[in-house]
Amino acid sequence: MAGPSEAVGKALKSLDLDGHILPPSPAPSTPTNGRKYALATELVYTEANDQYNASSMPIYQSATFKGGPGQEYDYTRSGNPTRTHLERHLAKIMNANRALVAGSGMGALDVITRVLKPGDEVVTGDDLYGGTNRLLTYLKTNGGIIVHHVDTTNMTAVKEILSEKTTMVLLETPTNPLIKVVDITGISAAAHAANPKAIVAVDNTMLSPYLQNPLDLGADVVYESGTKYLSGHHDVMAGVIGVNDTALADKFYFMINSTGCGLAPFDSWLLLRGIKTLAVRMEKQQTSANAIAEYLEEHGFKVRYPGLKSHPQYKLHWSQARGAGAVLSFETGSIALSERIVESTKLFGISVSFGCVNSLISMPCRMSHASIDPATRKERALPEDIIRLCIGIEDLDDLKDDLAQALVRAGAVRLTESGFTALPAEETEGQTGLTTQVVDEP
Ligand code: PLP
Repeated sequence: MAGPSEAVGKALKSLDLDGHILPPSPAPSTPTNGRKYALATELVYTEANDQYNASSMPIYQSATFKGGPGQEYDYTRSGNPTRTHLERHLAKIMNANRALVAGSGMGALDVITRVLKPGDEVVTGDDLYGGTNRLLTYLKTNGGIIVHHVDTTNMTAVKEILSEKTTMVLLETPTNPLIKVVDITGISAAAHAANPKAIVAVDNTMLSPYLQNPLDLGADVVYESGTKYLSGHHDVMAGVIGVNDTALADKFYFMINSTGCGLAPFDSWLLLRGIKTLAVRMEKQQTSANAIAEYLEEHGFKVRYPGLKSHPQYKLHWSQARGAGAVLSFETGSIALSERIVESTKLFGISVSFGCVNSLISMPCRMSHASIDPATRKERALPEDIIRLCIGIEDLDDLKDDLAQALVRAGAVRLTESGFTALPAEETEGQTGLTTQVVDEP
């Protein structure tokens, strides 16, 4: 059913349904001495033109707005002041000309991939978030889209598959759960060389705009699940898109308005509130993540974390990001052992997702990536025993104790005079006995 915006738009040509009527995104705030504010300040500082000077942006919980044609808002599917305020704030911190918000990260990716037409080619990674993989598989099966999965850490393989037919390149970095780092600058340049019109879209969920800005590295679109670090409390689902090309932004806005997937006013407000504490949360979380990654590595586990010098792409990661984030993974050599560890922690809750103030533990092959079939997981060298840790803001010593106790209880370590050490591979191999319930992502 057409909403009032469309009805009025048909009657009055002056109303722009592509969203040009939205106020432009604000430039970074500048203090009196002309210096640009640091990101931590920009996250907290927002300018609103509320009639009562409310310190917190009010929630305009209204589906409609009264008045005649030409006014800024008429119908919340098309635009809402709380959502607009969030979008303008996000554009500033994502270094984008325009930001748009949808009901979830997958909603945002749906908006982005709707610009694809049958026959278009997408080049993407082989260690993708399970939901992304599922949507691409759907588009391949039902939408006539050709999807190429390659190891995006291998520039030669990426260049071989890129061509003038490449319409979109979809990247995640660091990937999850293998924590592989992808060269955003190099791949963006190669994609644009192969096809200047190719859209390079980067899923920035793992790091957030606080640690990485893909648009500054040559990407055309950045999107992320606001459900994670941006909101930080696992109390809201949201997806955000940042883009510099205003024509592309108009296409995305058209989709959001047409399908009605824009973020609701209350959820926009929750996300605005979460963003204010992004810097303090992320700083604390990644400091603890670094300490835990070192702790596990010192005790003999194979750990994947871009903050560790042992990470094969340590240099590349730090050339494009300002921090290592707070997600790491490690292997035990046995699925059963990993399951016992996951079941033995107390502070680390067993849960899908990440980016919350609480620490989480999961086995991706049983949970967030269960929608990737076992054969494909094997083909993509995804270790079935891999454990993912998402570090929260709890006390670091408490987290270490919780993990140590779980490792001992699960029989994953041998006690030594100086503490404990991971069991050698020959002692963990072949341990079976699955007890963890398989939880597919929703
Ligand atoms: N991208 C990544 C890397 C994710 O981990 C997730 C969710 O876990 C998504 C996208 C999808 O976001 P949402 O769950 O908000 O739809």
